[in-house]
Amino acid sequence: MAVMVFCIGLAVGSFLQVAYSRYLPSQSLFAYLGAISVPRSTCKNCHHSLYAWHLIPVLSWIMLGKRCYFCQHKIAFYYLFFELFIAGLFLLIYLDKGLNFQSGLLMLLAAWFLVLALIDFHHFLLPDFFTQPLMWAGLMMSYFNLCSLTINDALTGIFYGYLMLKLPAFCYFCLTKRIGLGDGDIKLAAALGAWVPYQFMPILVIMASLLGILYFIVAKCRTSMHIAFGPFLLLSGYLMLYLF
Ligand SMILES: [Zn+2]
Repeated sequence: MAVMVFCIGLAVGSFLQVAYSRYLPSQSLFAYLGAISVPRSTCKNCHHSLYAWHLIPVLSWIMLGKRCYFCQHKIAFYYLFFELFIAGLFLLIYLDKGLNFQSGLLMLLAAWFLVLALIDFHHFLLPDFFTQPLMWAGLMMSYFNLCSLTINDALTGIFYGYLMLKLPAFCYFCLTKRIGLGDGDIKLAAALGAWVPYQFMPILVIMASLLGILYFIVAKCRTSMHIAFGPFLLLSGYLMLYLF
């Protein structure tokens, strides 16, 4: 079973790279769905369509000798690392929680959060078609008693998440006439509120802020540079979800 979970993780990791790399800020939801489902993957260098066996995670990388089948261009280790990372994460969830509804949900959310974090990191955007379904799914889960939260908890969490970022963003704008926090971050915090117990929402926001500040310091960003806040919200949110 562990081997199967690991292999599913590899396949999911491979798909997530497609889901992340084919996102464009100008895309509508339908254009995006078309982009991730229809066109065959191509080599980044020679743009030749890959054969089906080239898409098998890890094995194809080894069989191809780390190079493109057509142009011999070196395939970045990053792709392999990403697949192994997701597979390792799925395996850890399985070993910790077993195979049940909760662990399946944690795997699905890990995949969703990771694509969203990468998109925000790269484009400074948190698309509504990622954050809104997240909020509605959380609400549905509580409404149908599929999680420990009641519908009132989820609604309160959404309200808390929204206010906790909206208020500072509003104050910052009033004081400086500049946008300090994107609307996407506010919507994401509201969406996370549907999943995380509302009592933990302040901790989530503080943890995300501290992680953001730490990243800012470590990356030695210039004071004028802005950073994506979404990945830190998502990471903190996931930790809260996992632990509580
Ligand atoms: Zn090639």
